[in-house]
Amino acid sequence: MSVKFDISFAKSAKISGGLAVLLKAGDGELAAGTEIADPAGIIAKASKIAKFSAKAMSALDLVAPEGSPADRLFVIGIGKPQDLTSHDWLKLGGIAAAKVKGADKATIFIDAPGAAITAKAAADFSLGMLLRAYSFDTYKTKKSEEDEKANGKSAKITIVTADASGAKKALADSEAVAEGVNLARDLVNEPPNVLGPVEFAAKAKELEKLGVEVEILTEREMKRLGMGALLGVAQGSVRPPRLAIMHWKGGKAKDRPIAFIGKGVVFDTGGISIKPAAGMEDMKGDMGGAAAVIGLMHVLAARKADVNAVGIIGLVENMPDGNAQRPGDIVTSMSGQTIEIINTDAEGRLVLCDALWYCNDRFKPRFMINLATLTGAIMVALGNVHAGLFSNDDTLSAQLTSAGLTANEKLWRMPLGRDYDKMIDSKFADMKNTGGRYAGSITAAHFLKRFVQETPWAHLDIAGTALGSPQDEINQSWGSGFGVRLLDQLVRDHYEA
Ligand code: MN
Ligand code: ZN
Repeated sequence: MSVKFDISFAKSAKISGGLAVLLKAGDGELAAGTEIADPAGIIAKASKIAKFSAKAMSALDLVAPEGSPADRLFVIGIGKPQDLTSHDWLKLGGIAAAKVKGADKATIFIDAPGAAITAKAAADFSLGMLLRAYSFDTYKTKKSEEDEKANGKSAKITIVTADASGAKKALADSEAVAEGVNLARDLVNEPPNVLGPVEFAAKAKELEKLGVEVEILTEREMKRLGMGALLGVAQGSVRPPRLAIMHWKGGKAKDRPIAFIGKGVVFDTGGISIKPAAGMEDMKGDMGGAAAVIGLMHVLAARKADVNAVGIIGLVENMPDGNAQRPGDIVTSMSGQTIEIINTDAEGRLVLCDALWYCNDRFKPRFMINLATLTGAIMVALGNVHAGLFSNDDTLSAQLTSAGLTANEKLWRMPLGRDYDKMIDSKFADMKNTGGRYAGSITAAHFLKRFVQETPWAHLDIAGTALGSPQDEINQSWGSGFGVRLLDQLVRDHYEA
């Protein structure tokens, strides 16, 4: 169970016990509106001993002295308050949340010293708290210490800020985003025996509760559509594939939708080109792209975004089996283009190429963005700091890069070009499914590009960022939910009326 926070806002609050959280600027000022003005110089004295200079994101923790209305004081440094970005407010919320976990109540003064903050900043702070509260321990039969203390009750959080009513309105938005990110994290963290293609599709179906139209295509329907590339990957598994189509109609009826496509390989053994044993358990996360798409669709519907959006996820399991596809096989994709299978571990692009073609053909979207834990090569290039961005459209690419900076889900644009494209030409078919070791993430992108025609398109290779990335102030989970906030930001910035 994640810790639950019951957040409310107030213009002022009388502290009676519990935890009090204060912000402090680098020049020594404490958050506005606080009744703890440090008359006895306790905070000042503790700061000196602990060498706490209120640098941004530093913290000071002290048991409140005799006579203080709070039992405990937690002071978070913010450096120069005017320098704080939207993402800094998320981080501050995360730092506060880590401290509040296990407390039954807390009063948090967040107006920056010397100035009241905006409702947006208060909402960002709350979002940071909700994201940090997440933990995945569904399969632990012993409760954590924090859960033991909370005993099923949520912690009561009062956030004190001048624009309390504005902050309250903005909170609904933060809750929608937190739910979407935490949903994506859950899906990535779930074990592969529990979450197969059918179960994953059922998760998509649950979005109907929020007003999303959801269709699930079965194997038979995909066969009829000619999705030979996707089906070739699935044929080695006893668990049948699914294609889930989620449609959020929040915009005007005549507006063409924007589209998001996700790779949902629920487990990737590599197939006949089997992977080494070490670390193979991580391949339960090979559906991080599909998880991000479901998470995003959840956010858009929950906050009733003023946009038409389609989410399509290809759900398969890649297994070695008597019926599995072989290197050397040639499959025909829905587009009619034929593909020679060189390596059965390069399966994500085979799933995506039919999903992309189907999406373009049926919805004529304004753009298509696909997300996939596609290549190990992208981790060699960018580590787990940036996700790889590949695009046929400079405008979309610039919009994505800037949304990534705002959301702190960073993208780095990688090159495309004819010399790379020809590396996937095949002797026996229209193309082959891998171009070899060199430029592995680029040739994978070129493979996808052959299925998008003239539609503005971007491919995000999130193999390094969707799972196992370093923990930080707002994420302590193995499955990070990467992509949800990024794409929600993109929609907010450019695609809502
Ligand atoms: Mn693979
Ligand atoms: Zn894969």
